[in-house]
Amino acid sequence: MPYLLAALLLAAIALALAGCRPEPGSRAGVAARLAAVAEQPAPPERWPGALCYAPVGLPDPVEHVCPDCGAKTLYPCTPRSDGLAVGRAYLVGTLLPECRRLLAEVRDLDVRLDESEFCEKCRPGVASPRITLVVRYPDGRDQRTEEVTPDDLRLLAELTSGALTHEGERESRSPLKDHLPRLETLLGVKPEGGD
Ligand SMILES: [Zn+2]
Repeated sequence: MPYLLAALLLAAIALALAGCRPEPGSRAGVAARLAAVAEQPAPPERWPGALCYAPVGLPDPVEHVCPDCGAKTLYPCTPRSDGLAVGRAYLVGTLLPECRRLLAEVRDLDVRLDESEFCEKCRPGVASPRITLVVRYPDGRDQRTEEVTPDDLRLLAELTSGALTHEGERESRSPLKDHLPRLETLLGVKPEGGD
């Protein structure tokens, strides 16, 4: 059966080649990318001066529209003395839109946000809703990280676009490799050659 043997040989070669160049969205592809960042020399850092909190001009209430079921959930941010209410409104009105925007900048990875805790219909009665990041791999296993921030999404966008610098909060700048532990947590993957 020379044809069968030839076909098997070709299949083996294809598998070996695929092994050398893992899919960018696979765990092996992510591990290779993390390893590449770890090996790069660190670019110069920049740290912000004074820390300042700009007042947030949020509508009251802030409205959350569930991307899964379309239900609207209202988050009032008054009275201002209610820290939890203001925190939730800030999360819904400022951080969540920022996370959505940055998510669109993540390349080659199947990533989504789980906003269900913000939806009164999907998950009623959650006092402190969290933004959860879901990374879906071809192996079918999801990596979930609760309480992600825009900074986390920015790290993923930077990693997947080949950046070596992290543009952080308040115009700070640091080597992306300094953030590898957080990236490993978000991705559920260690760099190639790591433990
Ligand atoms: Zn919903």
